[in-house]
Amino acid sequence: MSDKIFEGQHAVVTGGSRGIGAAIAETLARHGAMVTIMGRSIATLDTRAREMSAASGGQVAGCAVDLGDPASIDHAFDNLSGDFPAPSILVNNAGLALSAPFSRTDLDFWNKILGVDLTGAFLCIRKVLPAMTKAGHGRIVNISSTAGLKGYPYVSAYCAAKHGLIGLTRSLALETAHKGVTVNSVCPGYTDTDIVRDTIANIVNKTGRSAEDALAELVKHNPQSRLIQPAEIAEAVVWLCRPESASVTGQSIAVAGGEVM
Ligand code: NAP
Repeated sequence: MSDKIFEGQHAVVTGGSRGIGAAIAETLARHGAMVTIMGRSIATLDTRAREMSAASGGQVAGCAVDLGDPASIDHAFDNLSGDFPAPSILVNNAGLALSAPFSRTDLDFWNKILGVDLTGAFLCIRKVLPAMTKAGHGRIVNISSTAGLKGYPYVSAYCAAKHGLIGLTRSLALETAHKGVTVNSVCPGYTDTDIVRDTIANIVNKTGRSAEDALAELVKHNPQSRLIQPAEIAEAVVWLCRPESASVTGQSIAVAGGEVM
């Protein structure tokens, strides 16, 4: 099987500037895709795009967007690089993982998380789906979470958004089943990125426990007793995007060491 399986295809990866999104973007580029990475800082994106192009030998471009702002999403997708064709792969990866007890989850907090994690993904799909269905080919991968498959305390807004993303995945997969477009979710467990580093700092601040204790508290959810690596999530995404995965749609695949099954 050719290593450059996505040659000629354009993949958009939201939140591609770091963490899981950066791993996904670089892996897609290594497999031949032209990749647009999205995030809020164009300076960061341009630097990361240059680094990824060099590391992968592919073409990676940055595109600034605030996924909490519908007008910004319109503007970003209407101004994608003219060197790339219409996207045939969309990875809705960007996400905010803020925590708060329900008693302190006010409407602003709720809307902020739902706006980026769920409505942002919905709006990005709206921008790329017409061209995918017209071409008769497309891959949409929504990065949900184990928090889309089960509950955790103190993250009700995040859990609601991630469960919602799975509902969107399932419904849209049925609508696009005859159009050559697959729609799936990947659900990471605790993964070694800034989100987990911030969560550990938060636990240390709020409880006075050590960072080692806080990390142990997080990895105890994973039967393999470890953090997931971003590259492991990237490989699951790449597999879903392969031509051979055309029958896999509407699925929510946990990459979480057996935490949910
Ligand atoms: P991360 O390191 O915090 O990166 C988040 C990415 O999202 C960054 O590229 C960030 O870019 C972008 N982003 C955040 N808000 C944005 C906004 N309003 N507009 C545009 N881009 C925005 O996160 P991660 O750990 O890699 O997580 C990636 C995805 O996996 C998220 O959806 C997360 O919920 C999910 N996930 C993560 C874990 C985990 O343990 N790490 C577990 C399960 C699921 P800028 O800040 O530059 O804008």
